Amino acid sequence: MLAKEAEFIAAERLRSISVSPIITMMARAKALQRGGLDIIDLSVGEPDFATPENVVEAAERAMRDGHTRYTVLDGMDELKAVICEKFRRDNGLEYELNEVSVAAGAKQSIFNAMMATLNPGDEVILPSPYWSSYADIAGISHGVPVVVHCKEDRNFLLTAEELDAAITPRTRWLVINSPSNPSGAAYSAAEYWEIVEVLKRHPHVWILSDDIYELITFDDFEFTTPAALDPELKARTLTVNGVSKTYAMTGWRIGYAGGPLSLIKAMRAVHSQATSCPCSVSQIAAIEAMQGPQAIVEERRREFEKRRNLVIGALKEMPGLSTTLPRGAFYAYVNCADFMGRTSPEGVVIDSDVAFCEYLLDQAHVALVPGNAFGASPYIRLSYAASAETLTEALGRIEAACEALD
Ligand code: PLP
Repeated sequence: MLAKEAEFIAAERLRSISVSPIITMMARAKALQRGGLDIIDLSVGEPDFATPENVVEAAERAMRDGHTRYTVLDGMDELKAVICEKFRRDNGLEYELNEVSVAAGAKQSIFNAMMATLNPGDEVILPSPYWSSYADIAGISHGVPVVVHCKEDRNFLLTAEELDAAITPRTRWLVINSPSNPSGAAYSAAEYWEIVEVLKRHPHVWILSDDIYELITFDDFEFTTPAALDPELKARTLTVNGVSKTYAMTGWRIGYAGGPLSLIKAMRAVHSQATSCPCSVSQIAAIEAMQGPQAIVEERRREFEKRRNLVIGALKEMPGLSTTLPRGAFYAYVNCADFMGRTSPEGVVIDSDVAFCEYLLDQAHVALVPGNAFGASPYIRLSYAASAETLTEALGRIEAACEALD
């Protein structure tokens, strides 16, 4: 006989956290796949490429050479040195080794930063659409996400006025993600300056710049990062990055952050009680990824640009759907407002982007993510981390399913 489960009471801090609509959608897609249906999954947030061969080989060597023990708390000095060199070379940013912290993914860097800084009621400004984890990490750290709805006709870029209106004495962080997941929006230096002027008037606000898609940009877009714009700003900016997207290393779990020593020290304290250190083998793999031959990064960037053109070109031709032109990352954020209130052949009324995504999964067998996961509805996020053939097939199916709506 099975023992009766004891009464379970979840922690208060989980009150604001719900199961992500991304995970719910993925679970539904997987269940349909298991049932034998040919589901095209465009909900994924990771490159479909393999980790470069030289990186895999470096990891193999590392294991054989005995790099299988705990390393220094938040990253070995050899890796931190490579990261400092990357910040210098690519971003014009000078950090000392102890101003850099390596974690099990950029997600853990962000988690460490929020856990280390937020007191109950402290506010975190999130320009929407935003990567859903920011809101949940802020919530779990007892912070309050303050969502600023950025306008589609401004390419989802935060304006100076919107930022100014959102700042209060309780604001602790502004989170900026350029290029953005889910919209592909990215700030040029001039666009950044508009909001930097506001930030300079509010010295209590710190900036978390998530640059994870830095090297996946299109149309000769010139990437820049807030800390590089102004030394005073650098003194209150955490610049987060990682190897997951650039080097197709999502499973290796290496992310990093550069920032003021006092913040990095506090993050280190959180880190020490969470995971002790990032995976030793993955740290050596990350050194090889960042230091080894880089040609593959540009090859893959070009491939993403081709796919972006294919997807955006096709979406433009579809009545009822519209999208901005992503400057980077590998997602299209598609406005589906025209389909709200329409009825499926089975008689289901499409009353939200969640319902629209469910309809596309059931009818077109294409898995996408609803905009409510990113704080901006009604939209759907389509990941183009898939081959051109797969994308063409998926787009055809989406178009046919849209046409079938009453
Ligand atoms: N930041 C953004 C904007 C992301 O989209 C993701 C992953 O989807 C991450 C951070 C997480 O990166 P990592 O794999 O390094 O934890």
